[in-house]
Amino acid sequence: MELNTLTLTEARQKIRAGELSPVALIDAINDTANRVDEKIGGYVFRDYENARAQAAQADIQLPLGGIPIAIKDAINVKGEPCTAASKVLEGYIAPYDATVISKLRAAGAIPFGRTNMDELAMGSTTETSAIQITRNPHDTERIPGGSSGGSAAVIAGGEALAALGSDTGGSIRQPAAMCGCVGLKPSYGRVSRYGLAAFASSLDQIGPMTRSVEDAALILQVIAGHDPLDSTSLDVPVPNYSAQLGSGVRGMKLGVPKEYFIEGLDVRVATRVREAIETYRNLGAEIVEVSLPHTQYAVASYYIIATAEASANLARLDGVRYGRRAAGGKDLAEHYSRTRGEGFGHEVKRRIILGTYVLSSGYYDAYYLRAQKVRTLIRRDFEEAFQKVDALISPTIPSPAFKIGEHVKDPLQIYLTDIFTTAANLAGICAISIPCGSVKEAGRQLPVGVQILAPAFQEDRLLCIARAYEMATSTR
Ligand code: GLN
Repeated sequence: MELNTLTLTEARQKIRAGELSPVALIDAINDTANRVDEKIGGYVFRDYENARAQAAQADIQLPLGGIPIAIKDAINVKGEPCTAASKVLEGYIAPYDATVISKLRAAGAIPFGRTNMDELAMGSTTETSAIQITRNPHDTERIPGGSSGGSAAVIAGGEALAALGSDTGGSIRQPAAMCGCVGLKPSYGRVSRYGLAAFASSLDQIGPMTRSVEDAALILQVIAGHDPLDSTSLDVPVPNYSAQLGSGVRGMKLGVPKEYFIEGLDVRVATRVREAIETYRNLGAEIVEVSLPHTQYAVASYYIIATAEASANLARLDGVRYGRRAAGGKDLAEHYSRTRGEGFGHEVKRRIILGTYVLSSGYYDAYYLRAQKVRTLIRRDFEEAFQKVDALISPTIPSPAFKIGEHVKDPLQIYLTDIFTTAANLAGICAISIPCGSVKEAGRQLPVGVQILAPAFQEDRLLCIARAYEMATSTR
């Protein structure tokens, strides 16, 4: 079995045809992980016995019957550790399943393995994980991207068929691009976040990371929809994503935002993305240049809004309710400060301090309020663009994966890797990154991704556009 290339769709067909048993599949995945994960470091936990027992009972008639799916460590899977790669949650065992997990189980899937991530999803490299380093399987000297770097790495490393990630400012799309996978950030409100460790509640979404667009459609189908346990999940019908997948792009208008081809964008990455745009032209789409004039303010407003919300969300990690509890505090205040002082890493502390600052009286208007106004302008940019075009195409990342440790001393440099992804979260629209070839660096081929953005709740259109490229360019 070629686990490095097997898609979820193919595995499902083989299982249904009786050519592959769910037990054989989980065994193969576990064996590969035993072999390669020491080097890659994508998983932080695996309960093989339990997964195997579920595989033995799997109902293969269900949509994802017997299919193992790796889960980012920020999503609660009942009975398994869920630390979001933070020391502050050390020892915490999830007492319940997140809604996406219940939905996956109901569709026959088997959550298998917890994947590494930046601590509490804050980062773009998976280097802020308090647990371990994750390496990019395409070049193990390099980062896999982040924060869902473990999910992308286990797919690229042949240790998983598909995974769930979460995306607050790019954490699904950016690592997917760096590892050569498909990563879909659904529209705000499309997928329930109940059971996801909250980072920035007005931005967070859970989504699939896969080897193909077809696979992303299958997983989205299962996890999408209203959930009474997450009041931000919208009560609107979920279309049949697979049904529309093959309709092509002929006659569609695709916009290329000129602000996304800027100085600082690696020229080789730009070339790959331009080639993808040409492919769309050849497939019959009309390509038009559009402008999203407030793009340059997206990263700044994102880092104000996300840190502000994080500073409030993380207040609950106080050593009383969850996870790690520091010893020796003589009163409550000291207990809090010891637990949080020992439990949080540098990046998380930096964000809490920044978030508290931008919300503090005297600075609130200058920073937080202004960032919210900019957010409105960014949303309007998209609304105006979508009056003229069906979807937008851009790079996902400004450069291919860099070396582990290369930018750790310079957080701003790392924040800038989110330059093309944060706007979609601020606007609440859906976006996908799909592989569009690679660039050569130091003798290695490093993957790059093209991002497609569509209006909120138009995931069906988004997937169809992505699938058209995939069909035109690969054997899938
Ligand atoms: N890299 C961004 C950040 O550090 C986005 C993270 C995410 O989407 N969770 O905040």
